[in-house]
Amino acid sequence: MTYKPTIGLEIHTELKTNSKMFCSCKNNPDETRPNYNVCPICMAHPGTLPVANEEAIKEVIKTGLALNCEIAKESKFDRKNYFYPDLPKGYQISQYDQPLCGRGFLEVGDRNPLSPEALARRRIGITRIHLEEDTGSLAHPEGENYSLVNYNRAGVPLMELVTEPDITSGKEARKFAEELQLILRYLNVSDANMEKGQMRVEVNISVSKTEKFGTKVEIKNLNSFRVVEKAVDFEIARQTELLEAGEKVVQETRGWNDKKEITFSQREKEEAHDYRYFPEPDLPPMNFDEDFINKIKNEIMELPEQKRERFKKEFGLDENSIEFFITNKDLSEYYEKVVSEFEEWTREEESGEAHIKVSKLLANYLISDVKGLLGGAEFVEDDFKITPENFAEFVKMIYKGEISSKVAKMVLLEMFNTGKDPSDIVKENNWGQMKDDGELEKIVREVIEKNPKVVADFKAGKQNAMQFLVGQVMAVTRGTANPDKVRELLLKIL
Ligand code: ADP
Ligand code: MG
Ligand code: ZN
Repeated sequence: MTYKPTIGLEIHTELKTNSKMFCSCKNNPDETRPNYNVCPICMAHPGTLPVANEEAIKEVIKTGLALNCEIAKESKFDRKNYFYPDLPKGYQISQYDQPLCGRGFLEVGDRNPLSPEALARRRIGITRIHLEEDTGSLAHPEGENYSLVNYNRAGVPLMELVTEPDITSGKEARKFAEELQLILRYLNVSDANMEKGQMRVEVNISVSKTEKFGTKVEIKNLNSFRVVEKAVDFEIARQTELLEAGEKVVQETRGWNDKKEITFSQREKEEAHDYRYFPEPDLPPMNFDEDFINKIKNEIMELPEQKRERFKKEFGLDENSIEFFITNKDLSEYYEKVVSEFEEWTREEESGEAHIKVSKLLANYLISDVKGLLGGAEFVEDDFKITPENFAEFVKMIYKGEISSKVAKMVLLEMFNTGKDPSDIVKENNWGQMKDDGELEKIVREVIEKNPKVVADFKAGKQNAMQFLVGQVMAVTRGTANPDKVRELLLKIL
């Protein structure tokens, strides 16, 4: 019998609000001047009083609604007391026993597991989501005997989400965190960038052979999804080996060494912290009525999962293409604009399949060609020279066979660089698919005349010779001829 892993996550997210949680200082994660966004309130001067930021409260409730959570009718803030220099007040305002959001869940995993590596779709329980304030940040200059503290981040609204111990693998932990990041971005409550520390994932892991959970270890400071997955899998293996060797797992906090790809002990759990929680006396308790909650509910736009279903239904895209658009939101919005430009035309096409076909064609051009032309740069519609109208015309020309796929690449490059109309580009360069059989035949005859040796080879049965002749004709026509037509003509004449 093997050891079964049990994993729970604690995820902190910095919210995207104009001001801090309890004062009117700017909440600007990109501020480079240290201790610039500070005031007597977030610096804990005596006699100052906090005022709760309603925007932050709404963002947490909005997140809770998107994650199927129970929303509290009554809630309050509490003081969590501990002494550390990144915390000017000597306590953090947090929430203890009445979080804004209670029980909820998020489904992760593949809906149609096609490959053996696919992750089975499962529902991961959410225990709670609460609101607190972030701390300042410390720096320890190398070789110096002092530390520096920057309070720009002190008092920034911080949301904490805790999951049930429902997760069973590194991959599933990663999927949960990735899907949560997407949702937070779609809700526009946070940029949730892990590298910037805007989203911080802590994992709790234990393994056990029985129904009773084993001793858990907590891993902190994981700054990418890749590391979350690796650290969990490493820790499962480490704990399993320990137990199999008859040893014990120590309850402790561990860190991640990315060079060696191992977890290491940071500190063993001291006596459970006594934070001396008590209700924050300077902030009134909160009451939310149905109207308030419904208004927030109505502000929730389309979520990633709904968008996946819609993209499948409306455009017939495959899972990989859909996932590309789900994670490239700006490009997907552009995609939909182009679709609306050709929609009227494709819906009228007699075949009835034109709409799906052109939608797929467009998706391929955006995912491979445009992505390639951008060369790793972000897609920004304002800087992108091709209008949706021109892009729609472009895919229509390809679909109708007015330009070959080789010419299409040249046209797209020109559109990308100049923003010109695709039909103008084709006209100016004389790139239209050659329709005039008379002219093409003339060129074919010329090529045959100029290459007597290759023609002789062909007649002697060399198949490569034909390929060469087609290539010559394509070169003379600069790719505008239809290669099948060229082959047909060559065979006929020869
Ligand atoms: P603590 O009081 O040590 O912070 P919590 O009960 O608050 O522990 O749980 C913190 C996180 O750890 C939650 O995500 C929870 O699901 C998870 N967790 C709790 N017990 C275990 C366990 N035995 N193994 C793995 N994860 C666990
Ligand atoms: Mg806890
Ligand atoms: Zn302030």
